[in-house]
Amino acid sequence: MAEEKLLTDIQLLLQPGTLPQKVIEQTQHARECGKLLSIQTEHEFVEQNDVSFLVRIVSSLNHKDKAKRQQEQASASSGKEFNPFLPYDEDLFVANISDTHVCLLNKFNVVEHHILIVTKEFEEQDNILNMQDFAALAVCLAEIDGLGFYNGGQVAGASQRHKHLQLVPCLLSPEDCQIPIEAAFSSTLTQPTIATAPALPFAHAIAPLDLDWQKSPLEAAAATLRCYHALMQAVGLQVDSNNSSVKQPKPYNLLITRRWMLLVPRSQEGYESIQVNSLGFAGALLVRNPEQMQRLKELGPINLLRQVGMPPQG
Ligand code: AMP
Repeated sequence: MAEEKLLTDIQLLLQPGTLPQKVIEQTQHARECGKLLSIQTEHEFVEQNDVSFLVRIVSSLNHKDKAKRQQEQASASSGKEFNPFLPYDEDLFVANISDTHVCLLNKFNVVEHHILIVTKEFEEQDNILNMQDFAALAVCLAEIDGLGFYNGGQVAGASQRHKHLQLVPCLLSPEDCQIPIEAAFSSTLTQPTIATAPALPFAHAIAPLDLDWQKSPLEAAAATLRCYHALMQAVGLQVDSNNSSVKQPKPYNLLITRRWMLLVPRSQEGYESIQVNSLGFAGALLVRNPEQMQRLKELGPINLLRQVGMPPQG
């Protein structure tokens, strides 16, 4: 079978048990040498449909905007698109995860220890995910309990064309690893089937995961790849599971924890100037100013997600 052949081809390079410490040490190093430009925020909770959304508001000078403008200028003057991941900044390098993926620190992090899982060779962000991607993600999730995610294309919140998955340790506090949106579907997780949650009025599909991540990241990768294809199919995004280089049929957000996977197709990048990526669908939104915070409260966070998602299936 193609899946087994691919699995045996994958070489994992990370020594098990070392990633959390490497992330901590590299964060300290990158901060000391001025390469980590964390975005400072304050936060409030905004509730709708029993989900308590963590809404962050940017409070510091936004280095990311400045970097984006510089990136656009550099691309315009060189005629070549700037790629921050090829080559990547050595000061942000955390570890070699596999023969195909490296782990980097997110240079403009909002959440402490936000890591990127980036392909070593250039690949398009709007290609569908493959076994190598899930193997690298499984290695990282086995090491760090948190939220893995993928912004499938620009409309889904991706700001870089070079393929990258992401992982944030925990959205709230290390003691409480509950992802806010989970409150809307936790009761479905007891069933071993793909489900939808009535409290989420946009197209989506949820699957429970019951895997031994530490014992065999590769087995977890194979299982999560199968689950990804099943969720894509459930939301009507048909992909050819034997062809790993195909473009995704539509933009989507993929969220994955050790216990579940959620897939949400997207219609637009933002609504009323509030941008949404996978973290928004986890229940952690980011607004840029008090006006956006006010508008979000009037609108309701679930209604914002409905606007940037697709109408519910069936
Ligand atoms: P996304 O915006 O979801 O596509 O994720 C890409 C992430 O890459 C963003 O969150 C940026 O903060 C981050 N980023 C941008 N430039 C760099 C860089 N030079 N090194 C590491 N991370 C970067």
